Amino acid sequence: MSQLNLILMGPPGAGKGTQAERLTEDFGLPYYATGDLLRAAVREGTELGREAKKYMDAGDLVPDEVVIGMIVEALGTDEAEDGFLLDGFPRTVPQADALGRALEQLGRRLNGVLLIEAPDEEIERRISGRRVSENGRVYHVEFDPPKTEGVCDVDGSALIQRDDDKPETVRKRLAVYHEQTTPLIAYYEDLGLLHSFDGSPPPAQVYEHLRATVSTLRREDEA
Ligand code: ADP
Ligand code: AMP
Repeated sequence: MSQLNLILMGPPGAGKGTQAERLTEDFGLPYYATGDLLRAAVREGTELGREAKKYMDAGDLVPDEVVIGMIVEALGTDEAEDGFLLDGFPRTVPQADALGRALEQLGRRLNGVLLIEAPDEEIERRISGRRVSENGRVYHVEFDPPKTEGVCDVDGSALIQRDDDKPETVRKRLAVYHEQTTPLIAYYEDLGLLHSFDGSPPPAQVYEHLRATVSTLRREDEA
């Protein structure tokens, strides 16, 4: 049975969630975004959510053991049996190591790491205009507005600005990305898994390149 086990990587605001909507639809992959899982825990008011919120609001990473536990649990489900798309995980070398061990135990391997890159100035523009629905659907007030201002096209819920999308928190999140997550670029390059994409063009154009690469990875896995 062919499997597509993929990671979407890139700085906050590069367009990972935007592209994931298209990828999951076209390739039928279950999607696990640690940011979305953590925000759901915050909304539900669980102990994990309350603890995680402190780090998220400060623009820091939530401790490795918390997010590793969430992803290992997700990958062990029936839903993830034939493949998955991870977004926002791993973000540190210990998380990448833990993912590698978990996959090895399941007798599986990664097919590819899709890195979406965008310059910091573009990211600040994107994040300042980002609005999200309760289900995590992403819009932009200028670049990708909903049909009716402030309302999700899909489920009609009110769009909000994320607590951690304030300019000072965004700058902190970018610094954390450069410091703690960019070492993973060389990590996955050394494993021959890295595919880089320019995230600056409009979403449809970025997606064309992603789709072509993922189609190739799927054909290689089936061969
Ligand atoms: P990430 O998941 O990487 O944090 P998002 O997908 O949420 O990023 O995108 C951040 C913001 O930028 C959103 O408001 C989104 O609508 C917008 N956006 C995403 N991709 C592009 C693009 N290629 N061009 C312009 N705006 C984009
Ligand atoms: P995101 O939705 O990917 O932008 O993530 C929002 C916030 O959730 C981050 O700024 C972190 O505080 C936290 N977070 C998400 N994924 C991880 C991860 N893999 N490791 C640590 N913290 C994470």
